[in-house]
Amino acid sequence: KEEFSKGALRTKTVEDILTPVKDCFMLSSGALLDFNRMSEIMQSGYTRIPVYEEERSNIVDILYVKDLAMVDPDDCTPLSTITKFYNHPLHFVFNDTKLDAVLEEFKRGKSHMAIVQKVNNEGEGDPFYEVLGLVTLEDVIEEIIKSEILDE
Ligand code: ADP
Repeated sequence: KEEFSKGALRTKTVEDILTPVKDCFMLSSGALLDFNRMSEIMQSGYTRIPVYEEERSNIVDILYVKDLAMVDPDDCTPLSTITKFYNHPLHFVFNDTKLDAVLEEFKRGKSHMAIVQKVNNEGEGDPFYEVLGLVTLEDVIEEIIKSEILDE
């Protein structure tokens, strides 16, 4: 049983299990933390929220919902004030990273979320990094459990 789940971890990649960028709840770096915005964040139910600049594929920061504990919605604090203060490290992985490797990184590091990117060299222009989505420890654990159940 253990061997099977290890097999899945060795062969599957983060691209197979990520939450695609179009489904990600994210915030623009220019957002103001007024009452409506803070309600929307709370209602999303997520713990960690990527912050983008200009376009959703350009992720520059990460907000932890617990960072909002001391924020008064009446102050309309700029989101960037909060992200600059906490300055949580952003963790990027390439799309072809195997699940066992990303699991090791999650175990080593403090963050349990990684932004998945790939080098896009389709088309005429220069290759660029394209954000595909995000992956968390929860996604990897789900994969381990699935493969154990399949094996029974
Ligand atoms: P949370 O603690 O916010 O519930 P988890 O790490 O438990 O997040 O992940 C649960 C699922 O939600 C995973 O499939 C993960 O990819 C996805 N997820 C986490 N954060 C976000 C987000 N900001 N937007 C969309 N999906 C997310």
